[in-house]
Amino acid sequence: MLTRLTLIIAAIAVAACQPGGKHGTAEPSQRLAWVDGARIIQANAEPHNWLAHGRDYSEQRFSPLAQINSSNVQRLGLAWEQSMWSERGLEATPIVVDGVMFTTSTWSRVIALNAASGEVLWQYDPEVPRGWAKKLCCDIVNRGVAVWQGRVYVGTLDGRLIALDAGDGSPVWEVDTLIDRDKWYSITGAPRVVKGKVIIGNGGAEFGVRGYISAYDANSGELNWRFYTVPGRADGPFENPELAWAVKTWSNDSYWAGAGGTAWDSMAYDPELDLLYVGTGNGSPWPAYKRSPGGGDNLFLASILALRPDSGELVWHYQTTPGDSWDYTATQHMILADLEINGRTRKVLMQAPKNGFFYVLDRESGELISAEKYVFVNWASHVDANGRAVVSQAADYRNEDKYVFPSAAGGHNWHPMAFHPGTGLVYIPARDAGWVHSIDEDKWFTLGANNLEALLADLEYPSDSGYLKAWDPQRQQLVWEKALPNIWNGGVLATAGDLVVHGTAMGDLLVLHAEDGRELQRIALGTGVIAPPMTYAVNGKQYIAVMAGWGGPAFNTLAGNEALLQYGNAGRLLVFALDGGPVPLPAAVAPRGPVPEPPPLEASAETIEQGRQLYVFNCGGCHGMYGSTPMLPDLRRMSAATHEIFDAIVLDGVLEPRGMAGFGDSLSKEDSFAIRAYITELARQAQD
Ligand code: CA
Repeated sequence: MLTRLTLIIAAIAVAACQPGGKHGTAEPSQRLAWVDGARIIQANAEPHNWLAHGRDYSEQRFSPLAQINSSNVQRLGLAWEQSMWSERGLEATPIVVDGVMFTTSTWSRVIALNAASGEVLWQYDPEVPRGWAKKLCCDIVNRGVAVWQGRVYVGTLDGRLIALDAGDGSPVWEVDTLIDRDKWYSITGAPRVVKGKVIIGNGGAEFGVRGYISAYDANSGELNWRFYTVPGRADGPFENPELAWAVKTWSNDSYWAGAGGTAWDSMAYDPELDLLYVGTGNGSPWPAYKRSPGGGDNLFLASILALRPDSGELVWHYQTTPGDSWDYTATQHMILADLEINGRTRKVLMQAPKNGFFYVLDRESGELISAEKYVFVNWASHVDANGRAVVSQAADYRNEDKYVFPSAAGGHNWHPMAFHPGTGLVYIPARDAGWVHSIDEDKWFTLGANNLEALLADLEYPSDSGYLKAWDPQRQQLVWEKALPNIWNGGVLATAGDLVVHGTAMGDLLVLHAEDGRELQRIALGTGVIAPPMTYAVNGKQYIAVMAGWGGPAFNTLAGNEALLQYGNAGRLLVFALDGGPVPLPAAVAPRGPVPEPPPLEASAETIEQGRQLYVFNCGGCHGMYGSTPMLPDLRRMSAATHEIFDAIVLDGVLEPRGMAGFGDSLSKEDSFAIRAYITELARQAQD
């Protein structure tokens, strides 16, 4: 709830924006960061700005700017760079309003810069408690801010929504969006502002939380409405009326501790239809067989929801994965466009969710127009005429483990796509990869180390690969693709200069021709990219910006990520223009070399196995299931001195200021020893 103090601060901030205040007597459009709905809707009238997360409410991530184009992009070079004070994943899309850029770094920190020079204007650190890191599935990331009427809005890892003064970064109001701070909730997504309401969801479906979307008054921070995506209990209360019928898609013996369905990333808005679209996440726990043993579709998991932004009322829903058991979130990027299909112009919504099907929906009614596989898929044979995915035996893991495609990383994840109205193509950062699913909780998240070879023996499947795919949504077919050595690459930008811009895990900025994918420019950054590039102009000069800093979930591998091995992961904001200079590469880091022999430690096979299980559930999410990950220190290389203070680190949390939480509330000294024994065993195995 708002305190009286924050209301007073809000009133002062509003007063400051009135004529005679610190922003002077300028017209609203000339006030600092004075973005509103009319400007976002008419974003094409000011192509030099990038006013909202996906540039405008349609989230096409297409810019009309064409000063940098296919005939001159060979001259693209670095205009300026700025450290983001981070060595972890950077995922934000910077917003640019009238020459000022607003972006975020790790730990939900907000940075405002002069968009022409890179000069830092202000920084804001919400001081997220570093121990919150253990509540995160996928790194200490943030995907950016929203800007509205002189304020900058950020959601923090620990679930707060904060409004900042765009002029100096001072907080105007702050609310706690969490319904339960003891649960493992988080916010990594960018807020959107629609009709004066700041819309925000949250993450945590891997950890038994209940998903919901909240709308706050942009001016006051007052909660306007909240839509719960799943019922909280079989017998209510049903906080929103839709839950009274959604509950019938859950079995009576359902697991109600949380159930998932978190709305942690994608949104879009159609101002003519007045519909806000929100994508929802996977079920919690993953297997529907455990979550809802009697069956059912489990609404509104893995769904696209069309809501009234004024009230949160549900107008239609489309569930991409009924009875999700494979972490097939529908939180992936949604694009709105008008496409001619079978001789009719259709208002469509397009999404390539994790489940590997590319969906084209009628965004007025939610009716399925078409759905086809955009990557290798074996969990479902097809989507039938009623719009329902037909699940195959290959994905049923009730009785035996199954190797299922796509993996839990998805055929496509949060990394934004782009739609080019000229080519009519959607550019998808996609991947082929599988995942072992097991009903045996002990094997969850372990990629089925126990029986992987046996599982794969009879299966025909592609080897892991990343791609940038150019997809024709009208014909539902691939037009071109570029294969990439790592499966975890950046988002995409398309421009009227016939360009598709894409950063990669290997640390390159690729500029491809939008029509045929031929490579026009490749700039080595020395830092892997997962964020989407964006573009803007200041004083008539066009720039392309990208946040460089690789990261995300710890199941990712170093394969094809030479940049990280060679240069570490120095987080930087890199901004390019025509006739810019070379990108200075970070200083090379020492090669990792072989894993040293671990200090002696006596433990029984039983203890090591117990340690493995504890490790998987408590440590592997950040440190990698086998003791090493590209982003964090390789635990197999722990020195004797670190072994000495292992309990102080793991139980007491002495490294909490660096993001390593203490687990003393849930783990014992014996547990800590077993985990250390397992890590030691991993280090021994690395000696072979
Ligand atoms: Ca998930």
